Amino acid sequence: MAGPGWAPPRLDGFILTERLGSGTYATVYKAYGKKDTREVVAIKCVSKKSLNKASVENLLTEIEILKAIRHPHIVELKDFQWDSDNIYLIMEFCAGGDLSRFIRTRRILPEKVAHIFLQQLASALQFLHGRNISHLDLKPQNILLSSLEKPHLKLADFGFAQHMSPWDEKHVLRGSPLYMAPEMVCRRQYDARVDLWSVGVILYEALFGQPPFASKSFTELEEKIRSNRVIELPTRPQLSRNCRDLLQQLLERDPDRRISFKDFFGHPFVDLEHMPSGQSLERATALVVDAVKKDQEGDLSSALSLYCKALDYFIPALHYEVDARRKEAIKAKVGQYVSRAEELKALVNSSNRALLQQGTCARDLLKEMARDKPRLVAALEVASVAMAKAF
Ligand code: ADP
Ligand code: MG
Repeated sequence: MAGPGWAPPRLDGFILTERLGSGTYATVYKAYGKKDTREVVAIKCVSKKSLNKASVENLLTEIEILKAIRHPHIVELKDFQWDSDNIYLIMEFCAGGDLSRFIRTRRILPEKVAHIFLQQLASALQFLHGRNISHLDLKPQNILLSSLEKPHLKLADFGFAQHMSPWDEKHVLRGSPLYMAPEMVCRRQYDARVDLWSVGVILYEALFGQPPFASKSFTELEEKIRSNRVIELPTRPQLSRNCRDLLQQLLERDPDRRISFKDFFGHPFVDLEHMPSGQSLERATALVVDAVKKDQEGDLSSALSLYCKALDYFIPALHYEVDARRKEAIKAKVGQYVSRAEELKALVNSSNRALLQQGTCARDLLKEMARDKPRLVAALEVASVAMAKAF
């Protein structure tokens, strides 16, 4: 197979240029289509020799399945070819490099950035989980970035791991054990849940600058993997409670006690429901329509609650929007809703006080307000800050 320093291989319909990277099994080149559009792609050359478990035929069937997959946070597999030595995967080109380099050049990522990346990774994993596909080799080198200006994360290099044991014929571990779940290294018996451990390691590395098992020697690394000590999180930088809780639940050595896929997708720090997406604006608008209706009917507290729920979707909608004019238009609308919500908050608060002064029993209403208030106030604060920053 073509290694570093070798001329790129020849391939029908493409001009292969610079080497983008190489991993455990393959070398990836940047390439141009020979057609008029000169489409830029990345071509991954996998040596057939590295395929030990399943036959090449099985693998080709699997690639056909991967080709049908379309998700905004999964690298698109456009096509594939093969010859006597290699299989060539023609993929979408990701100009932002991989997450490993992104973290290294910044040393650590702020929680807010790590959070957005985590949501994008989780949405890709949820999509794959629903199709019974596990990755089994999740690590920052296998997570690519669409561009450096507005990086969107793209999951790469999956669907192969099932065919390639992490142990070679001489029982030597392939790849880095830093991201592998302990059961993969120690017991050699594992399932899809190893992906959740790896997500924990990736999040840990993004926030603290190195993976939890980072070691100076192989002996130290082995000891850390085989130990049964609970993974301790550094006290600095300060992180939200939800973020720490999720890390601790992902980095649970025993897969039976590790957070489940269902609980991971629903965890408050992952919060896929409020992830910036094409649907955010739709959901926000539907809620605001209801809010205006309640407002017109004079049901102020329901209107307030609906405005706040809508704002929980407007903020991600603003993050998602790339068109500057449309972004401005949404921003102007959000400004109006924030103002109206603030007015309503004052009105609802004063009417509650009035009710109390009248001696009317409004305990239920107050209880509900008290329960909802921190969330409402938080949503309003987030919206106000977001507005002040003027996106
Ligand atoms: P392997 O199976 O050998 O690990 P990968 O698919 O992970 O191969 O690719 C190796 C490296 O090549 C990645 O870490 C990344 O730096 C680079 N790379 C892979 N795919 C692309 C792509 N689509 N666009 C840009 N760079 C890529
Ligand atoms: Mg890889």
